[in-house]
Amino acid sequence: MVANETKSRWLSWGRRGTAGAAIPMALAFDGVTQRFGDVTALRDVSLSVEPGEIVALLGQSGCGKTTLLRLAAGVERPSAGRVLLEGRDVSSPDSFVEPERRGVGLVFQDYALFPHLTVLENVRFGLARGGEGGAADATARRAIARVGLADLADSYPHMLSGGEQQRVALARAVAPRPGVLLMDEPFSNLDRRLRDVVRDETAALLHETGATSIIVTHDPEDAMRIADRIVLMRAGAIVQIGTGEDLYRRPGSLFAARFFCDFTEVAGRVVRGAVDTPFGRFPARGLSEGSEAVACIRPQAVRIVPKGFCLPGRVVTRRFLGEVDHLLIAVDGFDRLLSVRASLAGAISEGDDVGLDIPTDEVLVFPAGDT
Ligand code: ATP
Repeated sequence: MVANETKSRWLSWGRRGTAGAAIPMALAFDGVTQRFGDVTALRDVSLSVEPGEIVALLGQSGCGKTTLLRLAAGVERPSAGRVLLEGRDVSSPDSFVEPERRGVGLVFQDYALFPHLTVLENVRFGLARGGEGGAADATARRAIARVGLADLADSYPHMLSGGEQQRVALARAVAPRPGVLLMDEPFSNLDRRLRDVVRDETAALLHETGATSIIVTHDPEDAMRIADRIVLMRAGAIVQIGTGEDLYRRPGSLFAARFFCDFTEVAGRVVRGAVDTPFGRFPARGLSEGSEAVACIRPQAVRIVPKGFCLPGRVVTRRFLGEVDHLLIAVDGFDRLLSVRASLAGAISEGDDVGLDIPTDEVLVFPAGDT
């Protein structure tokens, strides 16, 4: 689908600053549990999203992200707990607010455009029911122009590429100026190059509308690029909440750490407050003496220095990746290979002996089995 899209078109969204601003709403989940028969999709989840904040729900398939989004939209009712909009319970049986009355916009993973309606009619759909007539038309056209598709207003969804359909879905969601915007894996169907542009333009649009936004994704890069805060989920529960930098630099568990980086993991035992490994001793704060631990070495933290300095290693493979090289390095006493990303400008070849400088403060240490 994307192949049909011309470069100039996917690069040219509408003028920034022309999207209608929303009145952002506070959104909160209070002790939410959701069961589907024997499956507990969410267990006792509490989360507050500030007005205007952009939050990413990040996690592996099946961890409950979409279910949380559907509860916020009102297309699902919680088994226990409450969903609050502006502090008001909108999910309990005696105060339930229907999806169309919540002021919440939704972008589905498959975009869910009506195939028999044009782009303009799709975007106008949620507006026309408000009975605004000509004003609805103008609002829809403005939203379509903002996502750069004014010349496709009369096209049908099947005539559009995947990236264009995503933009129509986004235009449809923001046109009624929702106080809360919910997006389910909005970039997952896009190819990599297109994804970067769409992600950045979507972030600009979200900031412009000011809507409180929740974006579901399984891609940490999506989450870091677009969100003010990231909510990392696992098996129906929240594992950690923080900025992208918090989660990347200070993951609270081996599970969280692995989500953000392909570490080389090295097992060792804690001796006098540090874990002993073939790569050196790394501080193991809070871990008990004699316990088994895992040291996580970031590929980009390892510095290649001349042979004879620091720790000796031998380059087994070298892959040129453009701005950096990816190296796999053999180190005595380690039965696997150390993964290293470094910009070496071709100075290193396979078979070379090198020195490895591993800054201690770049190595994360967790209890073994803390997954
Ligand atoms: P994905 O990234 O694959 O969409 P997710 O993190 O969004 O995953 P959910 O779709 O929220 O996860 O699903 C969480 C769990 O609840 C899964 O085990 C799923 O199979 C189950 N589930 C979700 N909706 C239903 C349903 N309507 N009926 C039965 N089980 C469901």
